Amino acid sequence: MKFATKALHAGIEPDPSTGAIMTPIYQTSTYVQASPGNHKGYAYARGKNPTRTQLEKNLAALENAKYCLCFSSGMGAIDAVAKLLRPGDEVITGDDLYGGTYRMFTKVFEHFGIKFHFIDLKDANNINKHINNNTKLIWLETPTNPTMQIVDIAACAAIAKTNNLLLAVDNTFASPYLQNPLDMGADIIMHSVTKYLGGHSDVVMGALCLNNDKLYEQLAFIHNSCGATPGPMDSFLVLRGIKTLHLRMQRHCENGKHIAEFLKTHPKISKVYWPGFTDHPNHAIAKKQMRDFGGMISFDIKSGSKEDAFKIASSTQVFSLAESLGGVESLINHPATMTHASIPQAERERVGVTDSLLRLSVGIEDIDDLLEDLKTALN
Ligand SMILES: *Cc1c(COP(=O)(O)O)cnc(C)c1O
Repeated sequence: MKFATKALHAGIEPDPSTGAIMTPIYQTSTYVQASPGNHKGYAYARGKNPTRTQLEKNLAALENAKYCLCFSSGMGAIDAVAKLLRPGDEVITGDDLYGGTYRMFTKVFEHFGIKFHFIDLKDANNINKHINNNTKLIWLETPTNPTMQIVDIAACAAIAKTNNLLLAVDNTFASPYLQNPLDMGADIIMHSVTKYLGGHSDVVMGALCLNNDKLYEQLAFIHNSCGATPGPMDSFLVLRGIKTLHLRMQRHCENGKHIAEFLKTHPKISKVYWPGFTDHPNHAIAKKQMRDFGGMISFDIKSGSKEDAFKIASSTQVFSLAESLGGVESLINHPATMTHASIPQAERERVGVTDSLLRLSVGIEDIDDLLEDLKTALN
């Protein structure tokens, strides 16, 4: 099946009791058993819920994965992967991570004796310098947030394989529409389903997709034991959102391209971060591993002034000033004080997250209105 058909149909069966085409919201915490242990695979809803099961099957299909586990947030999904580790284990990860991931690694898991190396992954070979006997996991994001760096997933997977390490890829920014990291050799895909997959700014959810049976068993155990599992209503909303993922992504990409090109020639802007530019440092890798370049764009303004950035961010009318991304509505964000505020200033600025950087999540509105809005705000 091709992607668009999978988005609508994979894993989804008509309701056995009524034939309802849309997956019902099984709003129940428990299931009646005929005799102790004699049930239809569903015993208690933290462990399993039919609405969630259909969503997990659908998401697995979109990532060409054997398994999927849905979590009550993206952070819940990352937490489950980190819980595969033991004190003394080491992780190699990027220096341009989602702020919440950086915060969880440094403020939660470092206290449990796990060591994290935050390194430049633009050249995958940098990983080799940090591998030792304690290294267990490589955790990467691509494109990165907010500076849209591209990491070569296949090259990282080759290094992971050679050294017997797990490779986990946060695929939130690309969505399965743009890239499928398991096909490139990754072991685990993580999604903040909150973003493009949900797509309508109305759900917080996370997911892990994977192929390995033993790893699935370990993660399913953590999933049920630690309990960050989503409810049926949220699962329903995501199932509904995914039915238009391919159409939304197409428009996000088209609008993104127009806006990136507009910003690039604007006299007040010094730098635009978008992997579709042929002069983006890893454009060739982006072209190799992504089907298109997405609707996430960051830009820095020439004046370098935080006040000017604030003025732009608060004067757009169609772009709403808000955290998050990937919804149908266009958003503007000031990473230094919003999404990336938990990263120390020196660390932030080293990777380009300056006080004058702004990030756009380009929505699916009419491109003329989006361009007009930015033109006016930048005036
Ligand atoms: C939002 C986000 C997360 C965290 O997901 P939540 O659903 O907000 O918990 C992780 N990684 C990336 C890249 C994100 O954008």
